[in-house]
Amino acid sequence: MDVLISGAGVAGTALAYWLRHHDFTPTVVERAARVRAGGGVMGLRGEALDVLDRMALLERVEALNPLMGGAAKADGGAAPPAVVFAGDPRILRADLIGLLHEATRQEVEYVLGDSIATLEQDADGVRVTFERGRPRRFDLVAGADGLHSHTRSLVFGPPERFVRHLGIYTATFSLPGHLGLSGHLGLPGHLGLPGHLGLSGISRLPSMPGKAAVILGIRDDAEARAELYFTSCPLAYDRDDVAQCKRIVAGRFAGEGGPIPRLLREMSRAQDFFFDVNAQVEMDRWSSGRVVLLGDAGFGAAPTSGQSASQALIGAYILAGELALAGGEHTTAFAAYEREMRGFVAEHQQMGREGADRIFLGIPFREAPDTNTAGSRETAHAHLVRLKDYAPSFAVRRPP
Ligand SMILES: Cc1cc2nc3c(=O)[nH]c(=O)nc-3n(C[C@H](O)[C@H](O)[C@H](O)COP(=O)(O)OP(=O)(O)OC[C@H]3O[C@@H](n4cnc5c(N)ncnc54)[C@H](O)[C@@H]3O)c2cc1C
Repeated sequence: MDVLISGAGVAGTALAYWLRHHDFTPTVVERAARVRAGGGVMGLRGEALDVLDRMALLERVEALNPLMGGAAKADGGAAPPAVVFAGDPRILRADLIGLLHEATRQEVEYVLGDSIATLEQDADGVRVTFERGRPRRFDLVAGADGLHSHTRSLVFGPPERFVRHLGIYTATFSLPGHLGLSGHLGLPGHLGLPGHLGLSGISRLPSMPGKAAVILGIRDDAEARAELYFTSCPLAYDRDDVAQCKRIVAGRFAGEGGPIPRLLREMSRAQDFFFDVNAQVEMDRWSSGRVVLLGDAGFGAAPTSGQSASQALIGAYILAGELALAGGEHTTAFAAYEREMRGFVAEHQQMGREGADRIFLGIPFREAPDTNTAGSRETAHAHLVRLKDYAPSFAVRRPP
């Protein structure tokens, strides 16, 4: 079966992997000119680690954990570092998508710099026209095109019906390494949390009413990332206009002291700036006929949940697995996918709302030790909600 996936983010690349694994033929169309661009540090919960393990990617993901220091660098094939994770393992969005793209690019067609224009379903399939490419037919279409999903708008209706604004905007960007946690920004120091909580690379700047700033020193301070949050009613702006987005953030933080002016200067130069609203997607159904939604497009939990990448990975595994179990019969598969995923999504959306509340209260969400801190990879696995065995786990085959 031919499946068109809109979006080569975490959800889209992971779904391409699993569909290929189950002998479907996925094609990915991505609006951006290249795969993997941009993004900050994302957490990974136990079940997402299980999915990565089943892809044989877990060790490489662990080696890329940006908060684990320079010793934990992936160098393709070298022995994995003997790290025991404390708290949720983290990964940079671009690193995770890079791994998933690399694992699929030989066998999956990626069409870059294009987007679906129209979708027309009939009894046997979906006729798709593109903004640039020629029209094609597919058996199924999966919308994995993020919070502002174009597929969702085409098939289910406008964003106002599904996107719930949490009253906060998030900006992230990278800082030159020497501005990390080593004191050059005049930071108040680390959070004072014990290193074994795995949060020692994070520094929170003094709290400002309705705003929060966090700096993450990554890879032993060789690099650093800034995260800025501010509370606001919905803003009207052009999401693709980076200069305008930077002006909005700069305006909100203007007049703040300490390291903020320096951070804003770095933001104006940053090439990998990300800015978006903290919002959640609430839908009664994630499929309509032969079109199904995945990741932020269908059930975004907001950056304040810390779980968006995890639910994209888990959702891709379940969606492809259910399609395989149902022999491609999409009505049965999409219903089972929803049943399996709804519990995860409800939990993550709750975490997203609580994270947003902490910012309103002046406590950046990263200050609180992760609620699902697992202690070690082994314990993380023990905390799993067991995923169905659509694909074998490597962990059970590895010696203890
Ligand atoms: C550039 C970028 C940076 C991000 N940085 C952060 C961050 O720092 N912190 C954080 O918490 N979250 C960040 N996010 C959101 C985060 O990646 C997601 O919440 C999470 O990984 C779930 O992934 P997803 O695949 O559902 O959505 P996304 O990661 O948003 O991926 C969606 C993909 O669809 C593509 N797309 C959009 N519209 C179309 C279209 N019409 N046609 C084809 N493709 C389309 C996008 O370019 C993107 O590649 C970022 C998202 C993006 C796009």
